[in-house]
Amino acid sequence: MKKILLASALLSTSAFANLHLSPPDFDSSYGRAVFVDFKTAQYDITYDVLSEITTVKSKITFEAKTQGKPLFDLVPNPDLIKLDGQKIKQHMISFPGGVSKLRQLSSDVAPGMHTLEIENIIDTNVTYNSNFGNVSSAFWIRDLKDRLFLEQYIPSNFEYDQYQMTFNVSVEGVDEANQEFFTNGKLTKLSPVKWKIEFPEYFTVSCPFYHMSPTGLLKRLDFSYTSISGREIPMTVYSPYKRRTNKFKPEAIRVMTELEKDYGPWAHPSFVAYGTWRGAGGMEHSGATATSFGALDHEMLHSYFAKGVMPANGNSGWIDEAIASWRDKGYQRNPTTGFMGSNLGGQSVYKRNTDKRAYALGNAFMAYLDYRLQDMGGLKAFLRGYFQTYKHQVITEQHFKNNLEFFSGLNLDEEFNTYIWGQNVGNDHLLEESPHHSELSKEQLQSIL
Ligand SMILES: [Zn+2]
Repeated sequence: MKKILLASALLSTSAFANLHLSPPDFDSSYGRAVFVDFKTAQYDITYDVLSEITTVKSKITFEAKTQGKPLFDLVPNPDLIKLDGQKIKQHMISFPGGVSKLRQLSSDVAPGMHTLEIENIIDTNVTYNSNFGNVSSAFWIRDLKDRLFLEQYIPSNFEYDQYQMTFNVSVEGVDEANQEFFTNGKLTKLSPVKWKIEFPEYFTVSCPFYHMSPTGLLKRLDFSYTSISGREIPMTVYSPYKRRTNKFKPEAIRVMTELEKDYGPWAHPSFVAYGTWRGAGGMEHSGATATSFGALDHEMLHSYFAKGVMPANGNSGWIDEAIASWRDKGYQRNPTTGFMGSNLGGQSVYKRNTDKRAYALGNAFMAYLDYRLQDMGGLKAFLRGYFQTYKHQVITEQHFKNNLEFFSGLNLDEEFNTYIWGQNVGNDHLLEESPHHSELSKEQLQSIL
């Protein structure tokens, strides 16, 4: 028994060493820039209701495989950085080809384990209510534009990496904080002003859902759902209005039932949905979403594809939008894609965001794949097996293609080389924007705190 346990423990550790999925290391003007493997990240987040300043002290343990200056990202300027206890600097740099910005440490590391400490201020999506001494704060994320994952708030790695994150949240300047939390992590209250939230090990930088609000401001319903696996899944729906919250509950249950039937048991510890306004679209997290009512089903599908099986990079981001759109449009089957070619997933290896054409072109490609796979039970049969085999893992589009070919016995080189990694030909009419991921302004994101 012990031996078996040890073997599975080793297996699970290696499953999250994802450095082979990172883009290639490169040379910046400051020296060799190396991607690293975050192991754990502890974020001490302090809300000072007197000064109305939010600070984060982060402690990250990471492994470097090669000598060089490590890469990470953080949108706010870091105030203090220590590498293995020594104060150092960092530089804002660009990826090759200028596809995105990021940060590079100023000192080399040798291969092995290291500790990075960083301090910064959060001033995005946080509001202090000085009359009542309370705070609203959320780590909203977006995936259609660059640098809008957790790096907006806290020092983070890139999507290929999975690491255990812990948020230690304190509210200073009050004896008792009247705060309430909505999260897909494990919440523990440590004192009247301190909480700990632990997120699962399989999470990436786009998985955590974190929303802190004044107690009672938002109307919540907590209930449980019996999964087809027999597990009781805690579910929370909430919104500013009781009526809206009440409307979300039966819809969440309906969609959960449909998805479990199609793809298998829910793969996350819980489910939480924040109901925003009509037309707002939504954003998916792992077993969580902030969404309009109309996009709830689309975002819940993403707990299977996007945040159950997770894309390693921007080029692979089309897969889950393609699947979600294919479901939105009623799982159509078509003998042709209806477009001549695209580079949907064939852009820079450093690209971090999902191509907006993923909805329309991706849906068309999935409908065509379903046609090609009709003798093997169709695309849904493949997706069910793919999800069950690779849930909680980070995948690439090459991995998706290899598995499709293995499942079907087909060679799909030409299809991928034309429609996904080819030239953009004759598809202007398919460039529609998804109603499920509307672009919200900074003010709109702030308004739903
Ligand atoms: Zn989507």
